[in-house]
Amino acid sequence: MVSNENVNNQEETKWLRCSNCRDLIYKRIFFENQKVCPLCNFHYRLTAHERIELLFDKGSFVEINAHLSSVDLLGFKTPEETYEETLRRNQEKTGLKEACITGRGKIKGVECIGIVFDFFFMGGSMGTVVGEKVARAFEEALSKELPLVAVTASGGARMQEGIFSLMQMAKTSLLAGRFKRESQKAFVTLMTNPTTGGVLASFASLADFIIAEPGALIGFAGPRVIEKTVKAKLPKGFQTAEFLYERGLIDMVIPRSKLSESISEVISIGVNR
Ligand SMILES: [Zn+2]
Repeated sequence: MVSNENVNNQEETKWLRCSNCRDLIYKRIFFENQKVCPLCNFHYRLTAHERIELLFDKGSFVEINAHLSSVDLLGFKTPEETYEETLRRNQEKTGLKEACITGRGKIKGVECIGIVFDFFFMGGSMGTVVGEKVARAFEEALSKELPLVAVTASGGARMQEGIFSLMQMAKTSLLAGRFKRESQKAFVTLMTNPTTGGVLASFASLADFIIAEPGALIGFAGPRVIEKTVKAKLPKGFQTAEFLYERGLIDMVIPRSKLSESISEVISIGVNR
């Protein structure tokens, strides 16, 4: 079964079962298709490195601020582990230091600053380091006069850092605002499955152009929480990229295979503010 956990091409079998349509898919086709089910078009999650490889021109992406890593500000722990242990476990699992990678690269020849979230690292949650990397990416784009592309995949703020996490919403929004005031270059967000909570409710929603992958879950709180709060049944497809596109919250829904092309077109033109 292919799940939304990171699937790699190492196992021996030739076939995978899609967890969305439940049909059998030929593994080689699945990977050639950039982890999109060829039968039902379900877009499986990518790691930050896979996303960079897919979106940016080969070898063009150079990471910035790679040295930043989180510390345990609150002495947070669950019955199972301390925050430090959680960080270490996620670092070992993903090979990343934090839940996002930032850097400079080219998309179909167009130079830009990129922010790429990785949901496999603590659900792509935004703590102080993620917020700082996002903020510095905006500053870098401003000082180098480059467009900025943010690829989001996040469950929201990082609870292990409490109020410090929530402050990242204000900080990143402030920098996004500054970028939009001072730069003539485009700021694009690509929302992937899922983009929720504090990341959606801050810089991600402030882009000049918001693009989403087909079927991506995009929303602030989860549907069950909303149903309980408003005591009403939610409409079909609520919080999907397509649902939000129809209501004007998202500008474009673009399949994975066409993303580089579309994003490079958008960032190659300036923004008349
Ligand atoms: Zn499928």
